[in-house]
Amino acid sequence: MPTKRPAPSSTSIVQEGRPRFVPGDGVPVPIVQTSTFVFRDTTELVSFFEGTHADEHRGEYGRYGNPTVNALEGRLASLEGADEALSFSSGMAAMTTTILALVKAGQHVVLFRDGYRKTRDFVTKTLGRFGVASTVVEPGNLHELAAAMRPETRLVIGEAPTNPYLRCADLEAVARVVKQTRGAKLIVDATLASPLGFRPLEHGADLSVQSATKYLAGHHDVLGGSVAGARDLVSLVRELRGATGAMLDPHAAFLIARGLDTLSLRMQRHNATGIALARALEGHPAVARVHHPSLVSHPDHGTAERLFHGTGGVVSFVSKAGLAGAREVCDRVKIARIGPSFGGPQTLIEPVALMSYFEQGPEGRAALGIEEGLVRVACGLEETQDVVDDVLAALA
Ligand code: PLP
Repeated sequence: MPTKRPAPSSTSIVQEGRPRFVPGDGVPVPIVQTSTFVFRDTTELVSFFEGTHADEHRGEYGRYGNPTVNALEGRLASLEGADEALSFSSGMAAMTTTILALVKAGQHVVLFRDGYRKTRDFVTKTLGRFGVASTVVEPGNLHELAAAMRPETRLVIGEAPTNPYLRCADLEAVARVVKQTRGAKLIVDATLASPLGFRPLEHGADLSVQSATKYLAGHHDVLGGSVAGARDLVSLVRELRGATGAMLDPHAAFLIARGLDTLSLRMQRHNATGIALARALEGHPAVARVHHPSLVSHPDHGTAERLFHGTGGVVSFVSKAGLAGAREVCDRVKIARIGPSFGGPQTLIEPVALMSYFEQGPEGRAALGIEEGLVRVACGLEETQDVVDDVLAALA
């Protein structure tokens, strides 16, 4: 039976993985706004490439590393419980670079049906053009997963909680199925929970991918992504990042590092408001269904209770009045604002059919299982009761 491991403590997030002293002796690692780094002599140059240089955070050329970025990566590795972590210019840069580093033509990728649309499109459409086959399976359906696995399956990409239905597959069981195929690796995107809620590497994943744009940075003001895992796999991704140039900018790295300092406190509020809103919506006369793993009615309630330390602030629900009802709620809220994304201080709301899945049209959405009346609320850091009251008043 899979069990929870302790969540990273606020002390470890604030303290670990960072240099004890930084240039200028300030507390935060400063923004080193530099693309090229020079060496005093060739001896120093050689020591840098041999990995024996005294300053492990120094750089050579900005596309390969930068002191501010490297320091953030140390903290991300510690947060994920990983040997190493890499940062990227966005969550999608992290995901696509990781996938491209690990698959080749003739291989096969399996991914979850309810998952981030751009990841799915990248695998099914873009990779398909390069001779990589793919199969989409129901999150957590182990029989479907086992049936989808082929000798040439190289990657299984899972998400937990998924977006927008907050499915939380038993990823330890998923990892066991994946390990039965020689050479297959499990990548998990647990952005919706943040590493506070779920650390994929502790549950059998080979690589953990995060959109740092969301909870890690936490302020709706910067894009970023990360990949964490064992040294041998991460080094393949690092190699490709140097070629694709999907590097994080030092100013963005500074903002994400600052976000990490308050991650633990912020997640407490996001988690609590998500639960309160889900409970308030369940059974509401205007609401057909609420999707949140804290609810006993959710198919993955038990798994989430066993494996997660909170599933974040995203809650989705279906208006009984369909798309018109979803639009009305979004137009009537006073605190929440209509917008994509989640993980920042301001609560966001979206009619899913008109935001994340607009281009698909009603038939395309039905084929993907996206209900027309679906509303997604990304609870922010306002007072919990204010967010709940805002949505309830809009539904009244
Ligand atoms: N993964 C998940 C679960 C997401 O929700 C998102 C963005 O919404 C991404 C990845 C992509 O991240 P980014 O927008 O930072 O590229």
